[in-house]
Amino acid sequence: MTVDWDTCISDGVCYALCPQVFEAGPDGKSQIVKEYRGSQPWEGVIPSELKDCVEQAKVACPVSAIKVEEVE
Ligand code: SF4
Repeated sequence: MTVDWDTCISDGVCYALCPQVFEAGPDGKSQIVKEYRGSQPWEGVIPSELKDCVEQAKVACPVSAIKVEEVE
């Protein structure tokens, strides 16, 4: 999953809804918490039990900056 920092408006909705996965990064941009983060702060892989949490945040994001894809 990724957060598009060009689109993110730093409103904090995703990290309010799903703090297990998202946190405030530079300038309030949403970043993935260290535990699930990839090589960049705006991308990572999350366990399936947190899928619903991420989905909620994705739907709630006012600018659709959160993208999720299934990884086998
Ligand atoms: S909800 Fe969307 S716009 Fe708001 S901080 Fe998260 S990614 Fe950025």
